[in-house]
Amino acid sequence: MSSLAERLAEVEERICSAAVEASRDRSEIELIVVTKNHSHQLVLDLLELGIRSFGENRDQEAAPKAAEILAATAGLDFNYSWHFIGQLQTNKVRSALTYAAAVHSLDRQSLLYSLVKATADRPKPLDVFIQLNLTDDPGRGGIEPKNLLAFAEQVAKVPSLCLKGVMGVASLDKAPEQDFEVIQQASQSLVSLVPEAKFISAGMSEDFEAAIGFGATHLRIGSAITGNRQY
Ligand SMILES: *Cc1c(COP(=O)(O)O)cnc(C)c1O
Repeated sequence: MSSLAERLAEVEERICSAAVEASRDRSEIELIVVTKNHSHQLVLDLLELGIRSFGENRDQEAAPKAAEILAATAGLDFNYSWHFIGQLQTNKVRSALTYAAAVHSLDRQSLLYSLVKATADRPKPLDVFIQLNLTDDPGRGGIEPKNLLAFAEQVAKVPSLCLKGVMGVASLDKAPEQDFEVIQQASQSLVSLVPEAKFISAGMSEDFEAAIGFGATHLRIGSAITGNRQY
């Protein structure tokens, strides 16, 4: 069985190779290690290994974990950040904002309203990515690509939100390249409206190399690094 350090090193090597293949610079790609379903000890181990960006998808799990990490690192100069990557219920927004530096899953109007209210008195704007709906089903979560610019225009007007770009989860039932191409095109049209919103949150354990080929700047990788989830 491989160790955490070995799995991390292997993923890092694959990120570097995929970046070379895509004629991109490794330094423009951020690795967010998704620690959901793992204990706070895993986060501490990853901090020791040099990881500074962590992803969680449920506030119920993330909030106590973030508090434990805060306590365990008190007085130490770890400059780490939490990225909220799952569907965020509006009644969990205030809790999530106590630890999250970024929300990758801004996927609907009601969440935008909640974020506007909850961030109004923040000293520093909250980083947000607009999550795209990559399915043909408008009932699924996420903003449909055809509605992206209208939604982005609203987000960009909010001084307490910093629109970073788009986010997507490739579907499992077709080649991920098809979804990554849609995400990349959506990103290009977003940049024409908001030039700073040039980032792309895409790529998971099964498909991050393909995502790098389509311009992903924020990889959300869990099990390939953390091993099988514990709960
Ligand atoms: C769990 C999760 C990931 C990481 O998935 P792995 O397949 O374990 O790499 C990435 N993004 C989101 C939104 C997730 O919920």
